[in-house]
Amino acid sequence: KANRLFHPEDSVVNVNGREIGGKKFIVIAGPCSVESEQQILSIAEDIRESGASFLRGGAYKPRTSPYSFQGLQDEGLELLKLAREKTGLPIVTELMSPDKIEKFIEDVDIIQIGARNMQNFDLLKEVGRTQKPVLLKRGMSATIEELLMAAEYIMSEGNERVILCERGIRTFEKYTRNTLDLSAIPVIKKHSHLPVIVDPSHAGGLWWLVEPLAKAALTVGADGLMIEVHNDPANARCDGQQSIKPERFNCLMEKLRRLAKVE
Ligand code: PEP
Ligand code: MN
Repeated sequence: KANRLFHPEDSVVNVNGREIGGKKFIVIAGPCSVESEQQILSIAEDIRESGASFLRGGAYKPRTSPYSFQGLQDEGLELLKLAREKTGLPIVTELMSPDKIEKFIEDVDIIQIGARNMQNFDLLKEVGRTQKPVLLKRGMSATIEELLMAAEYIMSEGNERVILCERGIRTFEKYTRNTLDLSAIPVIKKHSHLPVIVDPSHAGGLWWLVEPLAKAALTVGADGLMIEVHNDPANARCDGQQSIKPERFNCLMEKLRRLAKVE
């Protein structure tokens, strides 16, 4: 179902009237994790003014260490809803467990499946039985074929509203958090009709790499970006080193608008 052979035109996923895929280039932005009402409302307002069209923010976080901040959980989701109400931006957040599916169907605009769950087949089938748009991130050691098969799990259950996300893969290189696989974008586009976005924040792992990787992603044909933005990166509870400040995000959006039509 994800294969271009049986669906030659590019798919467009419509989310509350906003389109992902086709001719448009969209930007999803926001903090790694929702930390407080003040934090999420201030970031949401800033990114909206800069031209982002979706707000991201983790409420349930898949952290490597069980002792790291696990997200505000249900409270985080409530704060995201408040931010949506105040800004009109649709919200994207990660679903980690099938138990929360009902809540996500009700509350969230795009359900994110994170890299660590790309091959959690029960979770994929669960979101496949909804009609919610799904942002499926590439697993850290997943091949393009495995990513496309994970999308197939969702689509085979009846949900064809899938957006793929290249977020860097593990390689021998240690300087960057992951290695952005730029060739994945044209390769996926050749074989699949699904929209593909790029997450330069988790790919590079360093705030100053976000801009060059974002421009590169646009150039190779990505349909959009997902960028981590934080109002106080030095004190962020998660991924501060790869987060850019709202002012820098605003400059980046201006530069992207010179390269493409961004909505
Ligand atoms: C995220 O987007 O917050 C995240 C945890 O990313 P990934 O699943 O790509 O590591
Ligand atoms: Mn993060």
